[in-house]
Amino acid sequence: MQETASAYVREARRRFQEAGIADAAFDARVLVAGILEFSGADLVLRGDDPVPGDVSARIKAAIERRLAREPVHRILGRRDFYGLELGLSSGTLEPRPDTELLVDRVLPHLKAIVSEKGSARVLDLGTGTGAICLALLHECPQATGVGADISADALSTARANAEKNGLGGRFEGVQSSWFEKIDGLYDVIVSNPPYIVTSVIETLEPEVRDFDPPAALDGGTDGLDAYRAIAAGAKQYLHSQGLVGLEIGYDQKDPVTAIFLSQGFNLLEEAKDLGGNDRVLLFCCNSS
Ligand code: GLN
Repeated sequence: MQETASAYVREARRRFQEAGIADAAFDARVLVAGILEFSGADLVLRGDDPVPGDVSARIKAAIERRLAREPVHRILGRRDFYGLELGLSSGTLEPRPDTELLVDRVLPHLKAIVSEKGSARVLDLGTGTGAICLALLHECPQATGVGADISADALSTARANAEKNGLGGRFEGVQSSWFEKIDGLYDVIVSNPPYIVTSVIETLEPEVRDFDPPAALDGGTDGLDAYRAIAAGAKQYLHSQGLVGLEIGYDQKDPVTAIFLSQGFNLLEEAKDLGGNDRVLLFCCNSS
């Protein structure tokens, strides 16, 4: 085989298709382009240039990893989220495009708080790569944030992601199980917590089941453990005009709403993802 980017894309696509990988053509392009640090345009314009031997070896190894069901962005060790490039590690969930909806919905509220107060504090519970918190801080230069995670590995990834994106001065990582090591008051508490029912995890596609950290997925026997923990603690850490923004599973709107209502919150907003599923809930604690 001629060792060019185009030839590797074709080979990867064919082998991914043969293995029954759903987005074979897309994954082949993202993987090969990612290793070459090519844009989509580079893949066309420089597709017939010879690939150096050491890079060829890395592409071949990456193709084998994808065939073993490792997701492309985990293989590359990075992915884009809300315009930021985030590093991934074994202790972090791979940020999902659906989670960008949570950022979209929280952002206008965060900006309104900043325009009223001149600053705002964000707490991201289960921050993982730091995705949600870092995206909010990037979009809102007057805000500062704490990313809490139980995993030391996730926190070092989140801190590195903050530095890499020029947000190190406004982001603090705290190793904490939910609110355990948190103090002070926040304007916005956000979380994309683990929300999969424990018994369902083994039925997930191998890309998720075998490569996202179990602690980032497992929501307990009914999938709602994290929401109960967040709802029970949130008021103590929120300013009176503050809000809680959550990602939820497609069938969790009613139970999560009930949990927050029982703790004295009001449902402020809800949003569906591009697939038409309930995906984001915003709660406030004032009665207006
Ligand atoms: N907050 C991170 C994200 O949304 C991690 C979430 C998690 O691990 N459940 O990507």
